[in-house]
Amino acid sequence: MPTIVSEGRHSGLSLQETDARAVCVIIWRVVIIWRVRQRSITRFPMRLLLIEDNVSLVQLISKGLANAGFEVDTSATVADSFDLLASGVYAAIVLDLGLPDGDGTAVLRSLRARGDSTPVLVLTARGTLQDRVTGLHDGADDYLVKPFALEELVARIHALLRRPGDFLGRLRRAGNVAFDPVGRQAYVDDVPQSLSAREMALLELLIGRAGRVVTKAYVEEHLFGQAEEIRSNAIEVYVHRLRKQLADFGASVEIHTVRGVGYLLAEARS
Ligand code: CA
Repeated sequence: MPTIVSEGRHSGLSLQETDARAVCVIIWRVVIIWRVRQRSITRFPMRLLLIEDNVSLVQLISKGLANAGFEVDTSATVADSFDLLASGVYAAIVLDLGLPDGDGTAVLRSLRARGDSTPVLVLTARGTLQDRVTGLHDGADDYLVKPFALEELVARIHALLRRPGDFLGRLRRAGNVAFDPVGRQAYVDDVPQSLSAREMALLELLIGRAGRVVTKAYVEEHLFGQAEEIRSNAIEVYVHRLRKQLADFGASVEIHTVRGVGYLLAEARS
């Protein structure tokens, strides 16, 4: 303490002034870290699907993943999981095996059978070597045995999303437009294009089902997550923006409105 006082005297600052400056510097650093974090979260809201039926685990894991910057949808049954997975909007899936209406491996096998390579991390109480080997044979990318540390789950998800080799195999295409769900990047004629997070999520939804009609209710449900409040014309606003962006980028496909039903990404009319 005496050292600080003497330093303060040398520089013409009292102890209180030195403390006040230190506090200001700390607050400023916290503000900067918070702003960077917020920016990265809003720019890359990677969406994960958590399939787990234990309510308290769901709350705990969802919170941990949200804190790590992910958007999380949850499902407690095999049936609901099939519905949610039809959208193909998830960057990765965290899958519990013991579900009330069946085995989680059914979800995994069905995904792989239709060529969907979305990374799946299996989360289960079954920890024997044979269980792990079976899970990996069924197409799991990683395996975490309960109980586990939340930090490890987050680290493993990050590792799955970083895996090399994913990029080329996972690019979704329609006309000259492509979308990389892992890198969160849109391309027109292989040139990277900048889109807002929501526009990107909308493109991801539509390109995953290119040539097929996606209902407005489906877009609403998948674009905004389960708990969000949505303004009545929000979908139209984002569709309008993305449509304009695609035209500006010179895309060979456009978003067609199917009146009263939904939207369709297909060849441009002109
Ligand atoms: Ca369970």
